[in-house]
Amino acid sequence: MTPQQLLGLDQSHLLTIEDNIELLGQKFQCHHEALVPLAKLIRQSENDGIPLRVVSSYRSFDQQVAIWNNKFYQDAVLNLRDGRTVNSQELAIKDRVNAILNYSAIPGTSRHHWGTDFDVFDASAIDKGYEPELLETEFEAQGPCGNLHNWLEENLVQYEFFKPYVEDLGGIACEPWHISYAPIATPALEEFPVDLLQELIENSEIGGKEIILGKLNALVEKYVRRITHSSIIKG
Ligand SMILES: [Zn+2]
Repeated sequence: MTPQQLLGLDQSHLLTIEDNIELLGQKFQCHHEALVPLAKLIRQSENDGIPLRVVSSYRSFDQQVAIWNNKFYQDAVLNLRDGRTVNSQELAIKDRVNAILNYSAIPGTSRHHWGTDFDVFDASAIDKGYEPELLETEFEAQGPCGNLHNWLEENLVQYEFFKPYVEDLGGIACEPWHISYAPIATPALEEFPVDLLQELIENSEIGGKEIILGKLNALVEKYVRRITHSSIIKG
């Protein structure tokens, strides 16, 4: 992938899926090489009676800026790592940046920019009217995605997907719903363009960017590189 693609600035590596019956009519954008493995994963989940629904896929840099600034400037409820919630406007700027970072990437650093990463949920729960919040409790044994959680554990590797946020390593909090296509995402992380990221943030309207730029390398180490690595060995 090019540096622009890695930062969410260029969509030329993506395919748009529309009304494809094999994908449950799901509409989303993804990396062209991730499409077939993802389709196979979804098909297998359907066959096994635990249909998975992609609730979030590709996101551009601008979309991530909108998510970030909404949490930074508006009365947004932020989830903290200990399960508590707080209104973002009650926090000092430095604390606000740190709280947002638990679950939201700095624009330019989201793995969702790559088109290789997807947030998934149990489609049958959604079909019954459940609205996914993407909380750890939803993926516990009694939660709406308890079965999906176990199914993913057993089936992801076979399709060369893995979960980069399966354990809390002090960076991004645990996200059992987030899956990643290793053959493209693993080299993408190795090529991550920090210098270009710095330039991009400097030239963008991002809440709290002075704090981000003051320790950008450390933040990239902590929130981009610190993941549970794929056990899939590249060919
Ligand atoms: Zn995600």
